[in-house]
Amino acid sequence: MINEPLIFAAISDLAGKMRGKAFPVSQTDERMARGVGWVPTNALITCFDTIADTPFGSLGDLVLMPDAATSTRLDFDDGTPPEHFVLCDITTPEGAPWLGCTRGILKAALRRFHALTGLLLKSTFEHEFQRKAGDAPPGEAFSLQAFSRHRAFGETIIAAMQQAGLRQDTFLKEYGADQFEVTMKPEVGIKSADSAAIVKEIVHFAAARHGQSVTFTPIQDPAGVGNGVHVHLSFTDAAGNPATHDTNGPYGMALRTGQFVAGILKYLDSIVAITAPSAISYARLTPHRWSAAFNNLGYRDREASVRICPVVGTDPSSVARQYNFEFRAADAAASPHLLLAAIVHAGCQGIEDELPAPEATQEDLSGLSETALAARGLRALPGSLGAALDKLGANETVRGWFPDGFADVYIAHKRGELATAQSYSQPDLHAAYARIY
Ligand code: GLU
Ligand code: MG
Repeated sequence: MINEPLIFAAISDLAGKMRGKAFPVSQTDERMARGVGWVPTNALITCFDTIADTPFGSLGDLVLMPDAATSTRLDFDDGTPPEHFVLCDITTPEGAPWLGCTRGILKAALRRFHALTGLLLKSTFEHEFQRKAGDAPPGEAFSLQAFSRHRAFGETIIAAMQQAGLRQDTFLKEYGADQFEVTMKPEVGIKSADSAAIVKEIVHFAAARHGQSVTFTPIQDPAGVGNGVHVHLSFTDAAGNPATHDTNGPYGMALRTGQFVAGILKYLDSIVAITAPSAISYARLTPHRWSAAFNNLGYRDREASVRICPVVGTDPSSVARQYNFEFRAADAAASPHLLLAAIVHAGCQGIEDELPAPEATQEDLSGLSETALAARGLRALPGSLGAALDKLGANETVRGWFPDGFADVYIAHKRGELATAQSYSQPDLHAAYARIY
């Protein structure tokens, strides 16, 4: 069959979807310079494809401006056309950053962190996902036999990541029914979020080529475990030396690490509306699911919103290089760029305000009363997206981290998503999100 290859100009949008438009590869030079047309109201397209109340209506024009460094071409060598896409920034026609550009928002957050500390942020995203088949027999958690049945799928994912220039780490058969996890090595700056957006697409592409259908939905079965996104963070100086750890700091945290983590936990009730942004995300953020349910720091505790991760060995310079902390109250309904931006801004606020390093919790908090939690500076995470959006909407500090007008656009988008979600029964809603993500 005749064919002219197309390149898809993509953004990671407010619904955590990659959307955009394609152009013929023969137009690459022109499109790299001039971009592809886009409109403001597209930011209000919810994950259900409904359009939330839009302040823009039919007015305005924008440009998707490709970033050549993110150009990704995946050839599965199976007779299907190679997947070819490039991540874009959203600008005005005059070339100024647009308020709803998730990459632009992350770049601004990273600039704030660098201006404040002189340091660079290193991060990486771990993604859990599930097959949708629902035919997994019991006894498969972490098992070699289950892994082996899906080895070919895993190896295609890893090969595609290699083609995309993503630094692979592990692929595993996770604990949950039909659940898998893919991890990557940390990257400096925006590349970790670009890689997170790309790896989710790779997993879907690879699954389709193996006759599978997978989902990154926050929680497929309300009675089962959720699919988390865990973001590992650390700091380096300009020369690449680690700057997160201090042997004498609390739980090994350097001064700015403690302040940064304290900022995340202080603003968590607002930023969770961005990091866990779907109508079902809050069914995952409940106790005893190894996700996150309180605004607590955990020392090597997999049920804390922020966890100090383990390091291997005792050599001080190796410990300092490995030392990192992990944000666990996130899921793949969020744009990785937006969720990382929210974490970085909250951390920066903690540094600016010189917040004291939080105490790490060491026990199950689920039995404690609100008063007992409050006495320790802790509280449960909001119980729903609506409650989290209320917090975000009311917090002037958090709103102020983002471009003018962004918070209202984001909240309108998410209120629109909730309005659609209301028309589903609970099982149908979980099924719908499984199809969407
Ligand atoms: N599935 C858990 C979550 O929803 C995470 C399990 C783990 O890898 O620690 O975050
Ligand atoms: Mg996991």
